[in-house]
Order: sequence, then C-alpha cells, then structure tokens
Amino acid sequence: MLPIPEAKLTLLLLVVSASRNRRIPSCTLVSFVVYLSGMRSRLANKIAIVTGAGSGIGRACAIALAREGARITLVGRRKDRLDNVAREIGDSALVLAADISKRVEIDRMIEHTVAHFGGLNVLLNNAGILHIGSAEQITEEQWDETFNINVRGLWLLSRAVLPHMREAGGGSIINMASVLGINGAHNRAAYAPSKGAVILLTKCMAIDHGQENIRVNAICPAFVETELSAAVFSDAKDPEAVRRERIAAHPIGRLGKPEDIAGLAVYLASDESSWVTGAVFPVDGGYLAV
Ligand code: NAD
Repeated sequence: MLPIPEAKLTLLLLVVSASRNRRIPSCTLVSFVVYLSGMRSRLANKIAIVTGAGSGIGRACAIALAREGARITLVGRRKDRLDNVAREIGDSALVLAADISKRVEIDRMIEHTVAHFGGLNVLLNNAGILHIGSAEQITEEQWDETFNINVRGLWLLSRAVLPHMREAGGGSIINMASVLGINGAHNRAAYAPSKGAVILLTKCMAIDHGQENIRVNAICPAFVETELSAAVFSDAKDPEAVRRERIAAHPIGRLGKPEDIAGLAVYLASDESSWVTGAVFPVDGGYLAV
C-alpha cells in the first residue's frame, strides 16, 4: 500500500467523520479508502446484475461486489428489501424489482442496466426458491415453480446477457447452485434436481462460450442461515435438535453465513479468475467431504 499524502489524509478524516454521522454509506467509505491508499479495487469498471439481491446470500454478495468497486443492478421481487440494500451500498446501485421467471421482465432489467451503466460484465444468478418434500409430496405447482425460477429463469437470464458480454469482450456468469445439486438429500425431490440442472447448464455454457471469453461457474453452498433455509427449523417439531443435527453434518462445526459465500463470488466476478470456467465450487464447511 502506498503512503497517504497529508491532503488525502485530511480528506479521509472528513469522510470518516461524515460516515460516522451516517451521511455516507460504509461501502462508499471503503471504496474511498481503497482509492486514497492507491490499492486497485478488484472489480473497478465491472458492471454486475445480482438477482435475489434483497436478502440472504444475494444481499451479502451484492455488498461485497460493490465494496470491490462494481456498479450493481439489484434485482428481486421485493422493492423495499432492494432499497435497503441499495442504501447500504450507496450511489452505485440501481434497484429493479422484477420476477426472473418472466421473460419480459428479464429483457427490461437487462436493457435498463445497459442503458444506465453503459454495459454489462457480470451476472450473479442467485435468486432461487426451496420447496420441501419427497417426490410423492411435492405438488405439480411446486415442481413447476421450482424449475421456472431455479432453472428456466436462470437460463433465460444467462442467454439474454450474452450479446452484452460479447460486446464487452467477455464476462462472468456465476450461478448459485447447491451441494444438493451434487448429492441428494431427504425431502429435496424438486430442489436438488433443479440445482443439478443448474450445474450442468453451467458446464454446457462454459463449453459453448469459453472462446468468447465468457466464463460460467457455479457456487455450491451447504446450509447457510437465510430466509430460504429457515423453514427447515421453523417446520421442525424440535428445532434445536434439527439445528444440532445440521451442524454435525458440517465438519467445520457451524452453519454458513451469507458472507461466507461472498468472497468466492468476488473472485469469480474478477479478472483474477480469468482462466476459471465450467467449475463447480463447494463452499460448504466440509459438508461434501463426509
Ligand atoms: P433467500 O430466500 O434469502 O434469497 C433468495 C432470493 O431470491 C430472495 O430475495 C427472493 O425474493 C429472490 N427470488 C426468489 N424468486 C424470485 C423471482 N422469481 N424473481 C426474482 N427474485 C426471486 O435465500 P438464500 O439462501 O440467500 O438463497 C439464495 C440462493 O442460494 C438460492 O438460489 C438458493 O437456492 C441458494 N442456496 C441457498 C442455500 C442455503 O442454505 N441458504 C444453500 C445452497 C444454495
């Protein structure tokens, strides 16, 4: 890190004091410190779309990408949640309430992003849903909804960004799959197959678009505590027993936090991973090692 000259130091102190008074968001402060110190942000000049950005893993990833200098479109169904995340990020975020299972909304979100930021380099396909049940218990509606959002929406978005990534000379698509796209589990008869499909779409798209410098990778979290996974406890007769059982399945000795996933998303969005494509990364506290 380079030494910070006196004038910049004074400016930094002013900005820190404004941040303490909550007049500027902490992400802006971090970017500013990085700028002053002469360090390069890992995602400077990157424009990203993050779906399901209003909560859980998507929120943590969006904040981490913004902290590294990316400008971000926050996509999700609940505008109030997205607005909260945008406030945490600061001026660089664009909020678009949209349903990724609807093609017109996908087209609108991409057009809007490109018009607003002038291009598109990164797509983090994070939005997803979980219906719990065995093959007999899952209804047709639940099966269709799972595949419409987790697979079809992700596929529609991924192909819609390709022309813009080509124009930019390449890009990075990051798909939030799951360890349950690799291994099966009780009562995940719709969810796990949908994540398995995401993993194979990741590999196929990596093969088809590698020569265009469009990289496609998948992240496979194990149990991360979010709204999506909360039903596992809330629906249980003995939530504490279920929690102990779930923790025991992770050799690291704890469940995941959304922030545990964000570091890999930053790496895959950045040029540091420029030779990484078609890869499937568990971030799982050792779950798949057992
Ligand atoms: P979450 O419920 O907090 O996040 C999912 C987000 O997707 C929500 O903000 C939701 O509003 C949004 N979303 C759902 N359907 C949408 C649609 N049609 N259009 C737009 N947005 C939509 O849960 P999370 O755990 O943060 O999940 C994020 C991703 O991580 C999901 O794809 C999930 O399958 C995956 N994942 C989660 C876990 C876990 O244990 N939490 C484990 C493995 C994989």
